[in-house]
Amino acid sequence: MSPTRVLVLNSGSSSVKYQLLDMRDSSRLAVGLVERIGERSARLKHTPLATGEAREWSAPIADHDAALKAVAEELAKDGLGLDSPELAAIGHRVVHGGLAFTRPTVIDDAVLAEIERLIPLAPLHNPANVTGIRTARAMRPDLPQVAVFDTAFHTTMPESAARYAIDVQTADEYRIRRYGFHGTSHAYVSRATAKLLGKAPEDVNVIVLHLGNGASAAAVRGGKCVDTSMGLTPLEGLVMGTRSGDMDPAVIFHLKRVGGMSTDEIDTLLNKKSGLIGLCGENDMREIRRRIDEGDEQARLAFDIYLHRLKKYIGAYIAVLGTVDAIAFTAGVGENAAEVREAAIAGLEGLGPAVDAGLNAVRSDEPRLISPAGARVAVAVVPTDEELEIATQTYALVGKNS
Ligand code: AMP
Repeated sequence: MSPTRVLVLNSGSSSVKYQLLDMRDSSRLAVGLVERIGERSARLKHTPLATGEAREWSAPIADHDAALKAVAEELAKDGLGLDSPELAAIGHRVVHGGLAFTRPTVIDDAVLAEIERLIPLAPLHNPANVTGIRTARAMRPDLPQVAVFDTAFHTTMPESAARYAIDVQTADEYRIRRYGFHGTSHAYVSRATAKLLGKAPEDVNVIVLHLGNGASAAAVRGGKCVDTSMGLTPLEGLVMGTRSGDMDPAVIFHLKRVGGMSTDEIDTLLNKKSGLIGLCGENDMREIRRRIDEGDEQARLAFDIYLHRLKKYIGAYIAVLGTVDAIAFTAGVGENAAEVREAAIAGLEGLGPAVDAGLNAVRSDEPRLISPAGARVAVAVVPTDEELEIATQTYALVGKNS
């Protein structure tokens, strides 16, 4: 029998998240996380789904090489080791695929070199992805390894949506355009939304609102992305946990000229100290809601700014798509914060979408409709599953041939 397991690796600068799935039924065999790699004490948490009992320990882990070895040892304890003949492939999340990668790609030396060439476009993410790939290839050089790109789903955007209105030569020289991110999530959720409506992805137009700590919206026409809110980097678009989202670019010149700030300081300000945390000192929506309930004006204003931006994008994407079948909420805030969903749709009923308060209040891990029967635009909550999407795309590419 051909192997059916896929290991999904999501390598960050100081962390590795992983899941082992069996693609016969898309079930999880193990999930885990290594954090604080390279720091004084790293932490590993590993859960084999057969028992559901997590094993957790802290010890120094010098680098990604050591982290992956530790993961392999934990998996081996459950009889799920990387040397298992059941393992069909490893799927790697890669943040930036530029214009070169429009689909999942089997990794060879040339592909790895191209991912490295894209590092200037994603200096925080691609280096860690490259390290993860190198380490995994060294451990299992014989095994097919696949890169699944956050940007790939957005490569169908027309030039009118993807280009900034700046000098074309300059833009081309520095590869400046809108790439978009969260692509595996937008792909998965838009497809799952079509399924929820009982239709094929080709037959529906969906607005996906991925609202996590990072947040982005996508307009998806017939299964293909036609616009998304993140741009050259994940900084553009919605108000996020710690990122500003859209802003007059002249704010940067002002901070340099008048504020005397360095480029790195402004980068940190806009990426790490802005958004909800910059507005009210808190980026967890639960805590913001709690503070609002206590009458905290700063938290209220942060919430209102977040919602104002979100509404603008919903309205814009209704205009971009012309007709919309569904609006789908996903990720940490989108899946859990009923009051965000309610406030985002409130007042848009004339444009088609509506939220039923009773349905919106139900908590569930399943995809579900929260709009009243007969709403012209359905509103849905669709839990995202980026790991499953990466595993599915990886297995579709290599699994059946291995
Ligand atoms: P993610 O990046 O998708 O993991 O989402 C993380 C964010 O989801 C957190 O920062 C919280 O703001 C938000 N979140 C998670 N659970 C809840 C909840 N029950 N209610 C409101 N927001 C939540």
